[in-house]
Amino acid sequence: MASHVVGYPRMGPKRELKFALESFWDGKSSAEELQKVSADLRSSIWKQMSEAGIKYIPSNTFSYYDHVLDTTAMLGAVPDRYNWNGGEIGFDTFFSMARGNATVPAMEMTKWFDTNYHYIVPELGPHVKFSYASHKAVNEYKEAKGLGVDTVPVLVGPVSYLLLSKPSKGVEKTFSLLSLLPKILPIYKEVISELKAAGASWIQFDEPMLVMDLDSHKLQAFTEAYSELESTLSGLSVLIESYFADIPAEAYKTLTGLKGVTAFGFDLIRGTKTLDLIKGGFPEGKYLFAGVVDGRNIWANDLVGSLTILNELESLVGKDKLVVSTSCSLLHTAVDLVNEIKLDKEIKSWLAFAAQKVVEVDALAKALAGHKDEAFFSANAAAQASRKSSPRVTNEAVQKAAAALKGSDHRRATNVSARLDTQQKKLNLPILPTTTIGSFPQTMALRKVRREYKAKKVTEEEYVNAIKEEISKVVKIQEDLDIDVLVHGEPERNDMVEYFGEQLSGFAFTANGWVQSYGSRCVKPPIIYGDVSRPKAMTVFWSSMAQSMTARPMKGMLTGPVTILNWSFVRNDQPRFETCYQIALAIKDEVEDLEKAGINVIQIDEAALREGLPLRKAEHAFYLDWAVHSFRITNCGVQDTCQIHTHMCYSNFNDIIHSIIDMDADVITIENSRSDEKLLSVFREGVKYGAGIGPGVYDIHSPRIPSTEEIADRINKMLAVLETNILWVNPDCGLKTRKYTEVKPALQNMVAAAKLLRTQLASAK
Ligand code: GLN
Ligand code: ZN
Repeated sequence: MASHVVGYPRMGPKRELKFALESFWDGKSSAEELQKVSADLRSSIWKQMSEAGIKYIPSNTFSYYDHVLDTTAMLGAVPDRYNWNGGEIGFDTFFSMARGNATVPAMEMTKWFDTNYHYIVPELGPHVKFSYASHKAVNEYKEAKGLGVDTVPVLVGPVSYLLLSKPSKGVEKTFSLLSLLPKILPIYKEVISELKAAGASWIQFDEPMLVMDLDSHKLQAFTEAYSELESTLSGLSVLIESYFADIPAEAYKTLTGLKGVTAFGFDLIRGTKTLDLIKGGFPEGKYLFAGVVDGRNIWANDLVGSLTILNELESLVGKDKLVVSTSCSLLHTAVDLVNEIKLDKEIKSWLAFAAQKVVEVDALAKALAGHKDEAFFSANAAAQASRKSSPRVTNEAVQKAAAALKGSDHRRATNVSARLDTQQKKLNLPILPTTTIGSFPQTMALRKVRREYKAKKVTEEEYVNAIKEEISKVVKIQEDLDIDVLVHGEPERNDMVEYFGEQLSGFAFTANGWVQSYGSRCVKPPIIYGDVSRPKAMTVFWSSMAQSMTARPMKGMLTGPVTILNWSFVRNDQPRFETCYQIALAIKDEVEDLEKAGINVIQIDEAALREGLPLRKAEHAFYLDWAVHSFRITNCGVQDTCQIHTHMCYSNFNDIIHSIIDMDADVITIENSRSDEKLLSVFREGVKYGAGIGPGVYDIHSPRIPSTEEIADRINKMLAVLETNILWVNPDCGLKTRKYTEVKPALQNMVAAAKLLRTQLASAK
């Protein structure tokens, strides 16, 4: 029985690649040094897998930035603005595309399916002259071979590549990207031929687009592409990998009917319905790569459960045709549990990061072949049992409260326009009220005091005083600027999810559980392992302190349940919505405590609500229903006088606008300035929006300071489609990444613009 791993994290167990990249970019180390760190990482991964006993070990899953960009380099599809003159693409051109350079901005980056990984979007059009311009796949294959490891080179499949691209600037939006297939396949053929010549016997094409809602025309492209490649591929065993969701029945038919393909890989964790398709018929004589070890999570595999599935599959496809695999690349999980020396022992026994998952895959394959590692299996069974019965996982009161939520609706009793009237009586705000999104610049000094407090190097009193001083500074700045609704600036927070996770029960934190987000950037999601509850108030102390410093309304600042859920590693022993409802109840308690403490405006950020949207349309409604419900649960218990705000950091919500309205917040602030038209077009098209709304008036992602006229102009555009009495004036997002030298003049201009328009509107009456 054989074993396979779809792909592996690149960063290294302690983010070695991140530091090597950043040092190279800063000019502090040479290209050779970066290459050396990278080669060492690759070689240790290959050795680790080969020592573990993995039969099909991937190569070319390493990347200096992103595997889609690697494919763009392989195809020589460098946009003209980078002035590439042909030849093998080196660091210069590669990193210019990834990150921009002094004169040219970077290519666009977007989310890789529903993961938190971001890829660089290829820019294509009829004018692109494709050429074989990066031999990375072949070089890595040879490099592994030189180390004595025969690998399966992995390529992003040609159809997924094109479907993940966008028409470049100047090319019609309706341009058919798939029409470029005949132009890119010759390059794929060159690569395949070289791989063959170098001795490869297997090749893996990742075609994750297969799990999306594709029409028959798009499916047809797979058939065409692989027929075209068939003769070049002959002599090689060919694996097509799909992952991240169930594969639709039509796509399954297309995939399993492809000519020249030897093996099919499926995600059997997120794609449980795919099992039924396989049971309904799997092509005779082909290999099934069964992804039973979760690449998207950090939980140890339920080995006995997996064996049951594998046994069943074995009887369907035959003993020598079943390969045990991961559900997707391990890129989306943390690297190695070994480095978690501080983590609680019991919790640790429930986890498996990439390095441990490799061992699980191998153990399952050996068990199927009749060589069960009894000790390993019984340790696993003991951990599974401890996780099921551990009192730290189960909190019956929380379970009961969460269960009671289901089925019933939770909304505030009064409708939003009546509430806004009540609130206005209390808040007495001018029209076009100004506010900010929450955070103010995070200075070195702030980071230092937080770090030292955590390390117990400064006392609680010293820490509280430092934060208090910062809050009072931020309050003073806002009063001087004459902002209407103030914030405390979030100086006590490292991260908007971690800050809450650390204070809630049911959460654990790792020291090195990093996952690549984009380029050298990694995130360290908290692990939700148990029922979530709030032992005590989390933000009331700081928010009421801040409110006591000013007569103006101070916004309480919370992270919403859906965002906490979507930015954590979540439990796999209960549905996501269950966990989300539990978090919602904890946040509800916090909202009510804030209200009791005299905070009349409370913002509940749902920055990640949209990104949790399932890949397939058929599943959207269910997700949106429980996500929006969770949000409403947090604030259904407050008085009409309490104004609930929410914030979202993206503007492409035209498709979910009705769910956003259904959140029933009193005020929503959203990103807008980078895509003016997109956001406002919803309202132009006649969607009625009665709640307060603050489309960001300037881009906080850039150091540029917008002028008063420019901001006034933006506000005017908004006034053309939104009622005067619901419009708020605020930046796009929090200010934590900016400097005070940027923030102060920008906010000054923002307030001036609001005032200018108030005067104009008053005189127009
Ligand atoms: N309140 C948070 C801040 O201002 C919101 C951040 C976010 O939306 N990502 O930093
Ligand atoms: Zn934001």
